[in-house]
Amino acid sequence: MRSFTYAGAPSRVVFGAGAVAGLAAEVDRLGAQRALVLSTPGRGASVRASVASLGERLAGIYDRALMHVPLEVALDARRVAQDLRADCCIAWGGGSTIGLGKAIALTSGLPVIAVPTTYSGSEMTAVVGMTEGGEKKTQRDPRMLPRTVVYDPDLTLALPAATSAASGMNAIAHCVEALYAHDANPVSTMLAEEGIRVLAEALPRVVAAPADPGARAEALYGAWLAGASFATTSLGLHHKLCHVLGGTFNLPHAETHSIVLPHAIRYNHDAAPDAMRRIASSLGSEDAATGIYDLETRLGLRMKLADIGMPSDGLARAAKMATESPYPNPRPPAYDAVLELLENAHHGRRPA
Ligand code: NAD
Repeated sequence: MRSFTYAGAPSRVVFGAGAVAGLAAEVDRLGAQRALVLSTPGRGASVRASVASLGERLAGIYDRALMHVPLEVALDARRVAQDLRADCCIAWGGGSTIGLGKAIALTSGLPVIAVPTTYSGSEMTAVVGMTEGGEKKTQRDPRMLPRTVVYDPDLTLALPAATSAASGMNAIAHCVEALYAHDANPVSTMLAEEGIRVLAEALPRVVAAPADPGARAEALYGAWLAGASFATTSLGLHHKLCHVLGGTFNLPHAETHSIVLPHAIRYNHDAAPDAMRRIASSLGSEDAATGIYDLETRLGLRMKLADIGMPSDGLARAAKMATESPYPNPRPPAYDAVLELLENAHHGRRPA
């Protein structure tokens, strides 16, 4: 019998090529006057040129956002926001930049306008993963949900094909875990199925022709669906493993997601048959795990944790960390089975 709880995540979404031209109007809409613009190292100059239209609304630019939001960066950015008397943040970039915006909002309540330039989906969630002392911890708080999200696919045209493919698989991973989450609901399920379908079609087009604006628009649309799907559900074993591998072993976030995903799906195969059927059907494949693996191979992605810096003698520690404080998951995370999952991912084996 159908039964669910749905708490929608209220944010304003403006989507379309050229949408970023309305950024100043979005700042005004929030009643803000002094925006602190956030970005990652090396992208500050191009972002500065892009936000020139903010005029006097621009309080400053902080271009030191880092992956996995190290606590010391969050503390530094919060101090800068305070010193500049910022009354809103514009997070212009991928999940690292948006995560920093959330970290500022968490303690200051400053509204965040997100301008995503990757497919991380972070802009739609009230979740942040911050790293302290070599451990990544996630927090969920409604104050961190970006109030406005401006999706402009033109801003993704310069994202390299390989980064785009990995980032798109990060988005698909959100859809996958939303489908088998214990608190999945009819809305998250619809969004997740459509997110997988749209991304699985768009990503090969993006890789084949990174400057194709139509392919970019579809991929960014898929990222929105993915972010919106898991905004209302819990994270499972797959995200837990990626948080351990990223936070403790400093592996690159999107590629870690991409490599671990087929193995996490195989792990949950027998415990979540309905989700598996939906994933496979959205991919147009017979099987969820091999469907994802084959899509990634077609995208030219790296398939081995060994190739992105994971030491083989760290696998046991990662399995221990992931099973000692697990996220809820259809199949309970057991040490031996999770270690085997990680070994398969380390070697890049096609799921059996
Ligand atoms: P990222 O934000 O670190 O970006 C990756 C690299 O691409 C960076 O060097 C960045 O400068 C560059 N870049 C970004 N946009 C570009 C563009 N358009 N053109 C050229 N270069 C560009 O990577 P990411 O994968 O988007 O984000 C990873 C982070 O996001 C992790 O810390 C992860 O925990 C977080 N995340 C959070 C959520 C959530 O809901 N809380 C969801 C997904 C990811």
